[in-house]
Amino acid sequence: MKISVVRNILEANDRIAQQNRDLFKESGLMVINLMSSPGAGKTSLLEKSIDALKGDLRIGIIEGDIQSSQDAERIARKGVPVVQINTGGACHLDGNMIRDTFGEFNFREIDLLVVENVGNLVCPAEFRVGEDFKVMILSVTEGDDKPTKYPLMFRESKVLLINKIDLLPYVDFSLEKIKEDSLKINPDLTIFRISCKTGEGLEDWHNWLRKQVKTRKEDR
Ligand code: MG
Ligand code: ZN
Repeated sequence: MKISVVRNILEANDRIAQQNRDLFKESGLMVINLMSSPGAGKTSLLEKSIDALKGDLRIGIIEGDIQSSQDAERIARKGVPVVQINTGGACHLDGNMIRDTFGEFNFREIDLLVVENVGNLVCPAEFRVGEDFKVMILSVTEGDDKPTKYPLMFRESKVLLINKIDLLPYVDFSLEKIKEDSLKINPDLTIFRISCKTGEGLEDWHNWLRKQVKTRKEDR
């Protein structure tokens, strides 16, 4: 009984996510669903990426948090349109919550919309919001056992960003192990090693992102 209820919720969400997706496509923007555990560096990454890409791409951000608007305030300081969603306890964003922000954006004036999900390695991977693809951040301080513990997250993501690599000398974290275990779960995963602190690796990620937006625009 319980299984069928859960499936119904996911199916209803998928329908709304697909409607969002159609609208995004029609408006010509690329949408990323950004996921990680709390504190992995989602908002720090967005601050860096907005600075680097602002000249080339028109960026919009949706911030998902259980409560508070601290992250949206950080993003607003970068001068890009941002909407804060407070889930009021829910541990992930869903299609409906994203649809509720539509009145706040002019999507025709945005090339790249990033949805920063609630910090959580579990259910954000199950709920589509209308994104082109999911990106996950894992920081080296979280340990290299995450692919085996949270495989769905790695399976559903197109990109894995390994953050805080400046801390590698101080933690037990094997880049080789994480690569091997992640690719076993998802052979198509694109992996970048980055540090939002020092900036290392960010240029590769930004170039990749620029290319994705450009390719999608040409395909239309
Ligand atoms: Mg954040
Ligand atoms: Zn959840």
